[in-house]
Amino acid sequence: MSWIKNFFLYLSENQMLNKGARRWGLKLGAQSVVAGTNIPEMIESIKKLNQHGISCTIDNLGEFVFEKEEATQAKEEILRVIEAIHEHEVDAHISLKPTQLGLDIDYDFCLANLKEIMEKAKSYDIFVNMDMEDYDHLQPSFDLLDELSKEYDNIGTVIQAYFFESVDNIQKYKDYRLRIVKGAYKESETVAYQDKADIDANFLKLIEYHLLNGKFTSIATHDHHVIDYVKKFVKENNISNDKFEFQMLYGFRKDLQIELANEGYKFCTYVPFGEDWYGYFMRRLAERPQNLSLVTKQVFNK
Ligand code: FAD
Repeated sequence: MSWIKNFFLYLSENQMLNKGARRWGLKLGAQSVVAGTNIPEMIESIKKLNQHGISCTIDNLGEFVFEKEEATQAKEEILRVIEAIHEHEVDAHISLKPTQLGLDIDYDFCLANLKEIMEKAKSYDIFVNMDMEDYDHLQPSFDLLDELSKEYDNIGTVIQAYFFESVDNIQKYKDYRLRIVKGAYKESETVAYQDKADIDANFLKLIEYHLLNGKFTSIATHDHHVIDYVKKFVKENNISNDKFEFQMLYGFRKDLQIELANEGYKFCTYVPFGEDWYGYFMRRLAERPQNLSLVTKQVFNK
């Protein structure tokens, strides 16, 4: 199966296809895992999730940004999203990627964009999560976080269990609200576990650490084995439901999302929207080749 995973990860990094896909509209089944191409469509999707007691984290899709103009447009769109959260009074916060805001162009330019977003989010008391990307961007992203934390307390980030150094990072950032994930990118064996069993074991170790010592833990996974383990762990350790939440991606395991919310757990759905859906969708195919059924349904049910 690993060749399929590598194939889709390779496609996810293809910039030509990425640019082309913006002109296709939502295709290949992406519409079931992307909550629309614009803010009004996305807000409608969020209102439906909120009705189930599910909060949301909104991702304005975008990657491979190497032009200042494009990064500025992305920043403007995120500012509009913050305004829309406030105006429609939806239960939602922001997820963003530093590369979309210019990290590959110029560190200070990216920092300035992030500060503008943080300022606006803070004025409405909206939390901002900095998503973590591939290893090349890991340290620069933590540097941005350190810098922003001097002025803002409404920011958190992601710890990826496949990195060896995540054990150190979770301790260093224990006073932050953290999302813990397995990790979605193709990484070298010099920096990351390659074996699923090793990644899973580290994932549980990081979750346990942050639940016991950290501020607030977002456990982001579709893996019911992990979810069942966490349910047992919090019960045994008297960790109250307001100290953590489960997170899943929009369109995945919808019944389980609602079930967990109905059981009284905090639940947050990651809601991606926008025209730049290609890389995001390819990474989802890489993670779970069964997601290919989304593509085949789309191709054959015309
Ligand atoms: P997997 O390891 O993919 O699956 C484990 C098992 O769970 C499967 O064998 C199957 O039994 C079950 N399962 C999984 N999916 C399904 C399904 N759809 N239906 C039925 N059973 C299923 N990665 C990053 O690198 N950076 C980020 O910032 C980031 N943010 C994320 C935010 C959220 C909310 C989520 C959910 C993921 C995020 N990821 C991020 C991706 C993450 O790193 C993983 O790549 C992704 O979640 C796949 O791993 P998994 O834990 O969901 O389970």
